[in-house]
Amino acid sequence: MRQQLLAWWEPYGRHAIPWKQGAAGGRPLPGEELDPYPIWIAEVMLQQTQLAVVLPYWQRWLAALPSLDALAAAPEHDLFLLWQGLGYYARARRLKQGASQLLAARWPGDRQSADRQSGVRKPMGIEGAGGDGLPGDPWPRTVEGWMELPGIGRTTAGSILSSAYDQPAAILDGNVKRVLARLIACPEPPARQTAAFWQLSEQLLDRQRPRCFNQALMDLGALVCTPRQPACGGCPWQGCCAAYAAGEPAHYPVKEAPKPVPFQVIGVGVVLNGAGQVLIDQRLDEGLLGGLWEFPGGKQEPGEAIEATVARELREELAIDVAVGEELISLDHAYSHKKLRFVVHLCQWRSGEPQPLASQQVRWVHPSELSAYPFPAANGRIIAALLQHLGLADPQADPSAVA
Ligand code: SF4
Repeated sequence: MRQQLLAWWEPYGRHAIPWKQGAAGGRPLPGEELDPYPIWIAEVMLQQTQLAVVLPYWQRWLAALPSLDALAAAPEHDLFLLWQGLGYYARARRLKQGASQLLAARWPGDRQSADRQSGVRKPMGIEGAGGDGLPGDPWPRTVEGWMELPGIGRTTAGSILSSAYDQPAAILDGNVKRVLARLIACPEPPARQTAAFWQLSEQLLDRQRPRCFNQALMDLGALVCTPRQPACGGCPWQGCCAAYAAGEPAHYPVKEAPKPVPFQVIGVGVVLNGAGQVLIDQRLDEGLLGGLWEFPGGKQEPGEAIEATVARELREELAIDVAVGEELISLDHAYSHKKLRFVVHLCQWRSGEPQPLASQQVRWVHPSELSAYPFPAANGRIIAALLQHLGLADPQADPSAVA
């Protein structure tokens, strides 16, 4: 099976992924070590997002923050701007925490500032995040070492180690789970058989060519054994696939019965003052979108008119009184655990100095300055609608593209 997969991968695999190129520019030599930094950034971006979407974000990130030191020193605000549109912003914050953790392990304790000031890099011994790195090298060399970094699970650790160091570490991301579930026609959702799936991935792994094998497995899932319509005719494992033999490969992986997703309506106020400025607030650091900026608002109470929701939320969260005007836009946004409908009204500020009662800070900004603040994706469409309403939109721009 290993040989079949690798023989397929040679002509059909994705060989041009930029963070997986060797020093000479093409595919790395067997055992060649690659810089883990760009791979780590890419793997974290890929945790919730597809390769084609990640590519431009990864390029921008590497151009702005080319090293561990640059990442550790970057203000969170800048990270969020680089991450804007990728979603799950906590990942950007965890990368920064991880960078500090790795550097602290390389530059331990009170010697850090003195050594940095002297400009001399002094290897401190065994100093990976998990205490398993090479002398002077901040990067862990084991799955356990990588998993000590925030936001790194076993499959991300395995993927980084096999990509960077050609180490025989197994992976089990969504693509791999789907391929394995079909290979054995697993009658249960993979989440209920995690240990067995890890065992299978370990068992299949080619220990002589782990980097190529893991990439080939991911490529098979992404290019051939796709979620809805697996192209079994071009699959190197067709002859040993139980789901194919059973005649219904797309039936696998078996899914859990879906849970009902709660639905909420959120009243949002785009508040303008006499100087033409608009009011935004920065969310508290906790939670899904912690640290991002947004237009203030909150949940509609049962039986409440949406205009009343907007006025009440602005009073409760910012201690201001507004005149709620016309609706600017209404939009739906689905998260994995809830669906939200944002009903956005233009408001005119009447009285009260805005207070950050439920946020980190509030700010009056000119609408043309909004692009300097990181907003969640749903707010991007609100900004586009506001700029269009005010006649400030770029006539060439497609407002729907802002989200
Ligand atoms: S034969 Fe079809 S279902 Fe089985 S692994 Fe290949 S593509 Fe997936």
